[in-house]
Amino acid sequence: MCTVIGILIKFAVFRWSTSQAYLRPVLKRKNLQADVKAFATRILFEKNRAVGVEYHHDNQIKRARATKEVILCGGAFNSPHLLMVSGIGNGEELRKLGIPVVANRPGVGQNLQDHLEMHFQHVSFKPWEKQQQ
Ligand SMILES: Cc1cc2nc3c(=O)[nH]c(=O)nc-3n(C[C@H](O)[C@H](O)[C@H](O)COP(=O)(O)OP(=O)(O)OC[C@H]3O[C@@H](n4cnc5c(N)ncnc54)[C@H](O)[C@@H]3O)c2cc1C
Repeated sequence: MCTVIGILIKFAVFRWSTSQAYLRPVLKRKNLQADVKAFATRILFEKNRAVGVEYHHDNQIKRARATKEVILCGGAFNSPHLLMVSGIGNGEELRKLGIPVVANRPGVGQNLQDHLEMHFQHVSFKPWEKQQQ
């Protein structure tokens, strides 16, 4: 009963998040390590294959090596940013900034589309169906 009330309170107070839905239930898995307050600074490459990630954590620069693949999910702004600082982007621009080019991909970071919205709110003094009559 306490658990049910606890869950109800939790649902009433917090908006559900991807962390609560997908990450927290599997945190105890032996093949999963989650470092919080970590900031990825660079994808590590061997030739042109991503093999790991370099990140700041606990005032240290750390490296995590991938056995199979690196999945980048830094959001709409930071995913292309991390690709570019790692050497994937417009080769000419990267060279100007002293970033070694791994792959010349001029499209990286160039197609962000802002979806502007306008919200109209109305107050109605009659139910909608009556207005139609
Ligand atoms: C105001 C707003 C309202 C929205 N409302 C809705 C909605 O109602 N319904 C809906 O379906 N979608 C909504 N969206 C869209 C939705 O939020 C995104 O589509 C979704 O969050 C994308 O998920 P993601 O995991 O790709 O990126 P994100 O949710 O952006 O997650 C990226 C994460 O990576 C972290 N990160 C970035 N760079 C680094 C780095 N270098 N090192 C370590 N971590 C890093 C960020 O801190 C962040 O936690 C909304 C978006 C906005 C901005």
